[in-house]
Amino acid sequence: MQFKTIIEPFRIKTVEPIRQTTRAERERLLQEAGYNLFLLRAEDVLIDLLTDSGTGAMSSGQWAGMMLGDESYAGAKSFYKFETAVRNITGFKHVIPTHQGRAAERILFGSLLKPGEIVPNNTHFDTTRANVEYRKATALDIAVPEAHDPAHILPFKGNMDLAALEQTIADYPGRVPLAMITVTNNSGGGQPVSMANIRAASEICRRHGILFFLDACRFAENAWFIKTREPGYADKTPLAIAQEMFSYADGCTMSAKKDGMANIGGFLALNDDALAQRCKNMLILTEGFPTYGGLAGYDLEAIAVGLEEVLHEDYLQYRIRSVAYLGDILTANGVPIVQPPGGHAIYIDALAMLPHIPQSEYPAWALSLVLYLEGGIRSVEIGSVMFGHQPDGSEHPAAMELVRLAFPRRVYTQSHVDYLAEVILYVNNIREHIRGMRIAEAPSVLRHFSARMEPVCGSLLVSGKHCSLIGNKDGTT
Ligand SMILES: *Cc1c(COP(=O)(O)O)cnc(C)c1O
Repeated sequence: MQFKTIIEPFRIKTVEPIRQTTRAERERLLQEAGYNLFLLRAEDVLIDLLTDSGTGAMSSGQWAGMMLGDESYAGAKSFYKFETAVRNITGFKHVIPTHQGRAAERILFGSLLKPGEIVPNNTHFDTTRANVEYRKATALDIAVPEAHDPAHILPFKGNMDLAALEQTIADYPGRVPLAMITVTNNSGGGQPVSMANIRAASEICRRHGILFFLDACRFAENAWFIKTREPGYADKTPLAIAQEMFSYADGCTMSAKKDGMANIGGFLALNDDALAQRCKNMLILTEGFPTYGGLAGYDLEAIAVGLEEVLHEDYLQYRIRSVAYLGDILTANGVPIVQPPGGHAIYIDALAMLPHIPQSEYPAWALSLVLYLEGGIRSVEIGSVMFGHQPDGSEHPAAMELVRLAFPRRVYTQSHVDYLAEVILYVNNIREHIRGMRIAEAPSVLRHFSARMEPVCGSLLVSGKHCSLIGNKDGTT
């Protein structure tokens, strides 16, 4: 008998209590935090979906591995275990540990990019873009056009636009030293990239003598989507699929806080000897000796075990299903989300859900606040508070107003997700009463982390006194 319920493929050995607060407490906490979820204390959050980065639960195998950590400065046993785990999956010759993914990016681009050069990517993650631009190079996003339409359903909506890749190489002869594909496409909704797309992008790059790298943060989730959606891969293991993905690339950057299943860490891996030497020299300057790269020996152990566990089929099936499970409930009840659900998060389309709030009043920010007010849920706005402020000081609304609910790995169970769905459906029912927000004060760069906001209340607002997030246009509740 094949039973249909997909269970969490683990049992719980250590528990961390989470704290219920009252709605009145949350109203006060929001006011004190300047209506900015980044400024809340984590202990005041019931279900924290701010990010899936470094927030996962480690397994008993990883904790046991940590006790084996070899803290020798050079040539530690833990490094060789880590190197073997990375090499087994990626096949790359040089494996360089770093403290996070962005350190791998900085070292790669710092060793490779010159001012005026162009780096195409399906969609650059924000640290990747920032590290390219820091080298005075241009980060060019060339995802397939469908990636920009939240409602459009495609199995591999993270794919790169291959014609745009060819065109970019033709337009900037000699100025494209490498191209990258991000799997899954985090900034594009966690959408997967097909093997055919990776293979074709790799062929284009090889034909033009250009390096091809993967931003591999969610390589295992991407492998699962290939297994379940791309013809010819159903009978292959996630490991074999991942190995094939990496076989088309010359190297990768990786944040072990994602599919490394660890709380910290990352790596850069590549084949080119001369480039690897330059990267290792820079690593020694800012991160550490090449056999630890800014990590403790026990971190290297945790990542080595995590990289093995993340490719287990029962884990990946549970992981992708638990995100899709929430997506299915929301879709069935008319809540607009980015379709289809991605690998690590659900993105609510706030522009579609709250048409009465103009983009100048930050609908996604407002929605994220109400999810906390009503249910103690922390999400993150990916919209005009995050992206609306231009370097020249002007305001330009973001392409989409999204609320991202990112799932930490192996942390929450189905009852947590059922609760989430209940809160979101309740908020959807009262959506017409959600008020827009305005910025009270904000720094000019990365303002979403520290901005102080306030509800837009209409004529009844007494100066200095906040009205509530939910109410009527004239300020009454
Ligand atoms: C998280 C992430 C990074 C950066 O990794 P950190 O460990 O946070 O520095 C780079 N690319 C993608 C796609 C990511 O999701």
